[in-house]
Amino acid sequence: MKKIKEFMTALKKAAGLTGTKWVVWEHIQVGKSHCETCLKLNKCWFIEEKKPKLPQHFLCHCTTKPISYTDVVNFATSNSDSSKFDPYLFNRGMAYSHNKQKLFESWGYTIDDADWLQKTIEEQGVEKYINGDYDLGLLNKYGQRINIRVEIPRKDKEGTVSFLTGWMVCPNGRIQLNTPYGGK
Ligand SMILES: [Zn+2]
Repeated sequence: MKKIKEFMTALKKAAGLTGTKWVVWEHIQVGKSHCETCLKLNKCWFIEEKKPKLPQHFLCHCTTKPISYTDVVNFATSNSDSSKFDPYLFNRGMAYSHNKQKLFESWGYTIDDADWLQKTIEEQGVEKYINGDYDLGLLNKYGQRINIRVEIPRKDKEGTVSFLTGWMVCPNGRIQLNTPYGGK
């Protein structure tokens, strides 16, 4: 399976999906102006069509510079904290007030799948981010959130389900999982 995936990735690259232009945000501080939001965006990677508003504010001197798609493919990464899955998502010990575990249980998943789910969501997350397949979410002094749709097989019957995952864009091509289930 891994080989097929690598082959498909190579094909996509060769096909020049690369109409997609990537840029890196550069925070430029002039004088004493200082903006926490812009600082958080510094060195973050976005596709040109889906980058935060520029300028961000009056007297914002930030800029964006192009980065190569090859670098994005080679260096983009995703990561997540296992606690987002166990205990949080599967609500171990019913310690949380959400009912997200019920959804996953209705698709045949249990807390034993937490590791698999984490790995799968990390893999699909970075793959879709690289393809520019994300939507911008909330931006504030903590950073820029993006939403990424992932798809997993049902375990109770044939078919798949898809849902939104929530991520924070971090410097140098990294995305960090905020929410393993952020909505339908
Ligand atoms: Zn700025």
